Amino acid sequence: MNVLVINCGSSSLKYQLINSDTENVLAKGLCERIGIDGRLVYQKAGLDKEITEADMPTHKQAIQMVLDALVNEKTGAIASLAEIDAVGHRVVHGGEKFAASTILTDEVLAAIEECNDLAPLHNPANLIGINACKELMPNTPMVGVFDTAFHQTMPKKAYLYGIPYEYYEKYKVRRYGFHGTSHSFVSKRCAEFLGMDINHSKIIVAHLGNGASVSAVKDGKCVDTSMGLTPLEGLVMGTRSGDLDPSILEFIAQKENLTLPEVMDILNKKSGVQGMSRVSSDFRDLEAAYDEGNELAINACEVFAYRVAKYIGSYVAAMNGVDAIAFTAGIGENTSFIRAMILEYLGYLGITMDAEANKARGVDTIISTPDSKVKVCIIPTNEELAICRETVALL
Ligand code: AMP
Repeated sequence: MNVLVINCGSSSLKYQLINSDTENVLAKGLCERIGIDGRLVYQKAGLDKEITEADMPTHKQAIQMVLDALVNEKTGAIASLAEIDAVGHRVVHGGEKFAASTILTDEVLAAIEECNDLAPLHNPANLIGINACKELMPNTPMVGVFDTAFHQTMPKKAYLYGIPYEYYEKYKVRRYGFHGTSHSFVSKRCAEFLGMDINHSKIIVAHLGNGASVSAVKDGKCVDTSMGLTPLEGLVMGTRSGDLDPSILEFIAQKENLTLPEVMDILNKKSGVQGMSRVSSDFRDLEAAYDEGNELAINACEVFAYRVAKYIGSYVAAMNGVDAIAFTAGIGENTSFIRAMILEYLGYLGITMDAEANKARGVDTIISTPDSKVKVCIIPTNEELAICRETVALL
């Protein structure tokens, strides 16, 4: 079966065509600057990337260009669109309505639209992508895979906030968590890689990318996660603040004469390690600045690692123990000095790091020593493959 995986944002769209039998990627790429000017990146497996600058006023036109590239006579990955058996769509917010992936019927689309309030930047864009695909491929089954679904197993004590209960009743204000597809994929792969029975396991997944979150997975089910109603809560991220005293919003708004949306914009886009370091949100730049002794970059890296370590510690308490910790995503898979900084705090768990193994990048690797009481590993995430698998499983 060939599955087209679509991750549609407000002005960009990532895609992969995956053969679900071999799990090989047949072609992949992205559309950027949709509605601005437009650029298509397309890469058939084994060939170089092709970049085409072309007008893409709407998402429908962007997807049409992707489909044209996939069936292109010279560099296409398939002969005709009939070879696309299904489309798997990433959907950011499924609220409390979706605890699992689902076939995208008209009723389901209406229910997703009802969650738009909870993710105003993401869900409308996801829906635009779904509707464009439906128009262009009306007979191809479509599946929605939700970032929030994996976390729906959290108990009330983990998802309720300490605010008047009416806000949960009226508006469903609660912790939802994100990166669920990644936390699910990585926790399963971690158990498999370590030869553990996932149904009797306590795993902490640290998904450390530009957006970052930690989750506690007990017996294969998420019991807590660091992101909340929105992806702003939890860890210090590339440009997001993560946890802070809510009073800071009012304080900064008054001092700087800013509106609430303006303060929110700062917390989402100008904070995190970028705001702290004044260097970059990218850990490759931060590592270089750290090595040069840049004080603000050192602060940012230390605050980032300390926050991750504190979350891991709290999730050991939440699960009354931990068997394995898995690092994933851009920083988790590649940035060894940050992993080492985090693990330094966790000696009390009987964790010892294998410094040589910790040099690994982007491959399943155990980075704890054989006598470490808790296994620590790198598990590369693959959200597209996870979406492909979910799509096939559902169909
Ligand atoms: P992500 O959001 O998962 O793509 O992660 C992006 C973060 O991973 C950035 O801070 C990058 O600096 C960091 N990173 C470090 N090394 C690499 C690498 N070799 N490839 C991709 N991202 C990397």
